[in-house]
Amino acid sequence: MPTEVDVAIVGGGPSGAAAAHYLSSRGHSVLVCEKKTFPREKTCGDGLTPRAVKALQEMGLQKELDTWERVRGLRAHAAGKTMELDFPALDDWGNYGLVKPRKDLDSIVLSHAEAQGAKVLFGTQVTEPVFDKGVLSGLKAKRDGDIEEVRAHFVISAEGSATKFTRTLARDRDPSYPMGLAIRQYFTSPMQSSGWFEAYLDVRVGADSLPAYGWVFPVGDGTVNAGVGLLSTYGQWKSVNLNELQRDFVAQLPAEWDINQRTVCSKPRAGRLFMGGSVRPPHGPGFLLTGDAAGFINPCNGEGIAYAYETGRIAAQHIDDALSHGGSPTLAGYADELKGIYGPYYRLGRRFVKLIGYPWLMEKLVSIGMNSKSVMSFAFTMLANLEDSKATTYEQRGLKALKLLAELKPQRGSK
Ligand SMILES: Cc1cc2nc3c(=O)[nH]c(=O)nc-3n(C[C@H](O)[C@H](O)[C@H](O)COP(=O)(O)OP(=O)(O)OC[C@H]3O[C@@H](n4cnc5c(N)ncnc54)[C@H](O)[C@@H]3O)c2cc1C
Repeated sequence: MPTEVDVAIVGGGPSGAAAAHYLSSRGHSVLVCEKKTFPREKTCGDGLTPRAVKALQEMGLQKELDTWERVRGLRAHAAGKTMELDFPALDDWGNYGLVKPRKDLDSIVLSHAEAQGAKVLFGTQVTEPVFDKGVLSGLKAKRDGDIEEVRAHFVISAEGSATKFTRTLARDRDPSYPMGLAIRQYFTSPMQSSGWFEAYLDVRVGADSLPAYGWVFPVGDGTVNAGVGLLSTYGQWKSVNLNELQRDFVAQLPAEWDINQRTVCSKPRAGRLFMGGSVRPPHGPGFLLTGDAAGFINPCNGEGIAYAYETGRIAAQHIDDALSHGGSPTLAGYADELKGIYGPYYRLGRRFVKLIGYPWLMEKLVSIGMNSKSVMSFAFTMLANLEDSKATTYEQRGLKALKLLAELKPQRGSK
């Protein structure tokens, strides 16, 4: 382990890998401490929207992407109907998504950062921060049973929803923000290359229509990733048994998809989704938080990989500015930039998921949507946060108008 680096990064998932990629490609010495040994499983739906595809392209991974399983959009199922919604053709975003198991995806992106010069230590768990006069100036990590210390000009916490290290920096999730819970499994299925993100919007517990959706994503290797996610805005979310929810969801899938206990090829794995910018502020003296560690999952659709890449890139820019160009060592500009880019949308998202926490409203909205392709097309653009700087379609005008409305009367307690 080196004794001193420019930037030490806790975690080699999407946000840590993206930050490492951008910082090392700008010539800074970077150490990534990753507690697991890659390739490793990560509980996820493995779905990459056009946002994530763009982030991967920007890191120079197009050649790899060309070999992954492509999807053209969302196939929504609810109220006894099915509706196909292609990703919109926009200037700012491509019109396709991808599916790549995290076991492979995270290895590929982290190796790419290593190729730029980042040093990655696997099996290295960061245990505590090292402060110097109140400024984070390094960390201690456990490796092969020994505790080692590294000094760093800046530290990035990209540890995901593990939160152990982030809490030592006096940063924790604001419990008034919505949170997601989700569970997934792999199955062999003839849907393994369906070309669509299948989304079931009618997830119920008893008579209640939940703020939730079930998914079946085609992995392209003979398997699908099938799971279900639920929001904490549902009043009784704590009493929902995720394993039962998953069992009920799988049981309602079409028999010809052959997704059942006979074709299952992994145990169900569940995780928490920290959403809407719920860990605040995402910076402090000498450190930045990125991805899930900053609570940056999109509350509207549970997508976190793209936001992990994006916040990793933005964090790298601010640290690069501080290291190379005498930018502010407090890194406060990072929080301001995140607020500027994501604030209005996340405020809208938090309000939206609060509303759909009412079962009667969720049911009504799904039934209205499934009767109108225009409504669903707008909802798809909004939920995936695919705002375009130039397009003037009704979906784009609607999304921009809703963001403005959400700005007019800030939610209590939101910043
Ligand atoms: C069931 C489920 C389904 C999901 N489906 C999707 C989906 O289809 N699409 C999507 O975009 N998002 C999805 N998400 C969200 C997505 O998984 C996360 O938003 C994303 O992984 C965040 O990336 P990250 O780099 O911030 O954190 P992580 O991916 O969690 O990476 C953190 C890394 O840090 C390491 N680490 C943790 N603590 C330490 C420590 N102390 N020392 C060293 N290393 C440490 C971990 O081992 C890990 O490798 C899903 C989440 C769940 C739970």
